[in-house]
Amino acid sequence: MNETATLAAPTPADTEERILILAPRGRDANLIAGTLAEDGIHTAVCPDASSLVEWLDEGAAAAIVAEEALTRECVTEITRFLESQAPWSDIPFVVLTSGGRPNPATNRRAHELGVLGNITFLERPVRPATVLSSMRAALRARLRQYEMRRRQETLTRVNADLEQFAYSASHDLQEPIRNVAIYSDILSMRYNQVLDQRGLEFLGNVKSAAYRMQTMVSDLLCYTQAASIADEPVEQCDANAALAAALSILSETIPGNATITASSLPAVRVRKVHLQQIFQNLIGNAIKYRGDEPLRVEISALRNDGYWFFSVQDNGIGIATEYLEQVFGIFKRLHTHKKYPGTGIGLAICQRIVERYRGRIWVESAPGKGSTFIFTVPT
Ligand code: ADP
Repeated sequence: MNETATLAAPTPADTEERILILAPRGRDANLIAGTLAEDGIHTAVCPDASSLVEWLDEGAAAAIVAEEALTRECVTEITRFLESQAPWSDIPFVVLTSGGRPNPATNRRAHELGVLGNITFLERPVRPATVLSSMRAALRARLRQYEMRRRQETLTRVNADLEQFAYSASHDLQEPIRNVAIYSDILSMRYNQVLDQRGLEFLGNVKSAAYRMQTMVSDLLCYTQAASIADEPVEQCDANAALAAALSILSETIPGNATITASSLPAVRVRKVHLQQIFQNLIGNAIKYRGDEPLRVEISALRNDGYWFFSVQDNGIGIATEYLEQVFGIFKRLHTHKKYPGTGIGLAICQRIVERYRGRIWVESAPGKGSTFIFTVPT
C-alpha cells in the first residue's frame, strides 16, 4: 500500500465525494465500506451520530445510515442539516431499515426524515450489489448537484462583474457627457452669430443628443444601483407617504384636468425611496402615455395569499398584447423618442426593485383600453 497516500489529508474533492456510513452495531459499516471501496468509492465510517452530523457539515456526497442509529438527537441534527442546505443541494440519504425486526420508534423517525429529504429506504437483509447500485446512483446525483453549484457560482460571478461594469461605465460616462452638454450650450450662446443656419442646426443636434445621453446614463446608473439593494429586513414604510412624495415630484407634469385617486394604502417592508421610485415611474408613465380623454389614474392595494397587490390603473393609450412582457426589458420602447421622450429604463427599474423585495410586477392592457400595472410585495 502507498503510505503517503494513506497519510495524506483528504482534499476538498475527497471530502465532497465521500460517502458517510453510520451503522454503529454489527459489521454492516465495514461490509458496506468494503463493497464501495472495491468500486473506487470513497467512504468514511462514522463512529457515532454526532460525528455523522459534524462530517456532513464538512462535506459529503451521500450518507448511508442504519435505522437503529437514528436516535431522537441524531434525527433532530440531520433535520437541521437537511433544512439548512443551499438551494443547489439535496444530499442523498440511504436508510437501512430494520427488516424483519422493526423498532417502532426508530422506524417512525426514519419515516419522519423520509418526507424531509432525498431519502431512499433499503430493507435489510440487503445484498451488497443493491447497496452498491444505490450508492452509485446517489453519488452520480450528487456530482450533478455539484455541477449545478459550479454553474450557479459562475453565473453569480459573471453577473456581479457585469453589474460592476455597467455601474462603472454609467458612472464614469457622466462627466464627459456633462462636458459635451455644457460646451455645446456655451458654443450656442457665444458663437451663434458666427455660425450659419446649418452650423446652428448641427449644434442643436449635438445639444439634444448630449442631453438625451445624460438622461440615459443617469437612468442606467439608477438601474444598476437597484441591483445592489441590500437583501435584509427593513422597517415598515407607509405606502401613502411614498405615493404622496412621488405625486409631489410629478406635480408639474400632471395635467389640470387629470383625476388621480388612491385608496388607503398599507405599510409594507420596502424602503420609502424605492416605493416612491416605483410610484413615480408608473404614474409618470400614465401621465406620459395618456390618451385623448382627460387622464384618470387609480392607485389601490389588496391583500391576498401573503402578498400586497398594488395596482396603478390608467385610461391611457394602452399596450398591445405582444409587448406586455417586453416593456419591462431594459431600453425597450414602443414609440419614437420624438413622439414620447424616454429612455426605456423606467419599467426595468421598477421590475428590479420589486424583485429585490421578492415581489413581481406585470401589466394588463390593450391598445386604447388603458393599462393596469400590478406589483406585489410580501406582507
Ligand atoms: P420610457 O417611458 O422611458 O420609454 P419605460 O420603461 O417606463 O420607458 O416604459 C417602456 C415602454 O412601455 C414605454 O416606452 C411605453 O411604450 C410603454 N408604457 C409604459 N407605461 C405605459 C402606460 N402607462 N401606458 C402605455 N404604454 C406604456
